[in-house]
Amino acid sequence: MMDAALDSDVGEVAELIQAMIRNRCVNDGTPDSGEETRNVDLLTGYLEGVGLDIERYTAIHGRESLVATIEGTDPNAPTLTLLGHTDVVPVNEDRWSRDPFGGEIVDGELWGRGAIDMFNLTASMAVAIKRIAASGDPLRGTLRYVAVADEEASGLYGAKYLVERETDAVRTDYVITESGGFPIEAADGSISMPVLVAEKGTMASRLRVTGTPGHGSMPYGTDNALVKAAEVLGRLDAYQPPTRVSDHWRSFVEGFGYPPELTGPLTDEETLAATCAALPAAIGKVAYSCNHTTLTPTVMSGGTKRNVIPDSVDIELDIRTLPGDDPASVRGMINEALGDLADQVEFDPGVAIPASESPADTPLWDSLGRVANHFYGGSSLLPMLMPGGTDSRHFRALGATCYGFGIYSREMELEKMATMAHGDDERIDLESLRLIIDMWDVLVRDFLG
Ligand SMILES: [Zn+2]
Repeated sequence: MMDAALDSDVGEVAELIQAMIRNRCVNDGTPDSGEETRNVDLLTGYLEGVGLDIERYTAIHGRESLVATIEGTDPNAPTLTLLGHTDVVPVNEDRWSRDPFGGEIVDGELWGRGAIDMFNLTASMAVAIKRIAASGDPLRGTLRYVAVADEEASGLYGAKYLVERETDAVRTDYVITESGGFPIEAADGSISMPVLVAEKGTMASRLRVTGTPGHGSMPYGTDNALVKAAEVLGRLDAYQPPTRVSDHWRSFVEGFGYPPELTGPLTDEETLAATCAALPAAIGKVAYSCNHTTLTPTVMSGGTKRNVIPDSVDIELDIRTLPGDDPASVRGMINEALGDLADQVEFDPGVAIPASESPADTPLWDSLGRVANHFYGGSSLLPMLMPGGTDSRHFRALGATCYGFGIYSREMELEKMATMAHGDDERIDLESLRLIIDMWDVLVRDFLG
């Protein structure tokens, strides 16, 4: 039931988000999951009837994406794509205070998996393009809305598919997608808005630890791959990868306006890693990940039978690389971490996707600066690197300039956003929805009008 106090603007976007949450397009990484066709059906039904050009593209059964376009009047003006994903990550229902797929509105907050990541944007983008189409006001440049499947895995059945197989349908100069725009208050009270301009690369890697098979009844002196794997994990965990402070990080930290005794240790490669330990946990994690290539063991499998000493154990590593790192440099880090065990471990880097970034001196950047000021007077933009991945990387491969942006209320701080995305009790305040729906309108008219 809708909160009676909701005005129609917020009500429209909230209803769409609720319906998307209730569709449970949970992507667990397998091809059969997601079933984003349900959210594409929903969005198609919502967008029809105002003269938008709507196309649907199916990568494999159930994994569908939508493209809606308003052609611009000036062929020399840029194309702007608003890019949202329609899938969500799984939940641990027991840890939620409310039904993660209920889409309930309680005390001014809309609850459910996807409320932050990223239906607040995906739904408000749809509301915005529908309104602009309905208004009939011409735009100089082309405006496109792309709602994709499979962002929460690799984009194989979503953005990657569209960019590689339906290139003409999604070719664009600029992309706005998740996730930035949560206001950060600097020491002097001024507001900074982070814009994601870069994201780390990924390597879906595997380490194979080898040993010598033997009988479980006689362990003395044997070369047990499981025992060795435990040592490998311990060394990986203790390993301190090189700290690399980027210009993005430096300007991000300096944007807070804190005194040099706080800013200094956070921008110095000698002290940054130790400083992360002193920060609030959610901030320390982000600070560490933004300045290090990370090697995270996530899955281990090995052994065949209780009475057989295993000769092989596989460890899956979630590797996130800074710009400049590749399989060869990562292998160097693993060798350093493992020391004398390195030659007993095979490293398969798997599919490596390099880090990607977009320049922060473009007409869209300037436009976002004006938009930010419209909502938070006197605010400034902060370029930021994202530790995780988004679909921006696929569109950067097409040559597009991609930013992660939004406009959120003062309630939605960095720490809260970082905890709730993919976490428990994900929810967004209605004031943020009000800001976001207005933001698209202000941005599109500023940039394409
Ligand atoms: Zn997302």
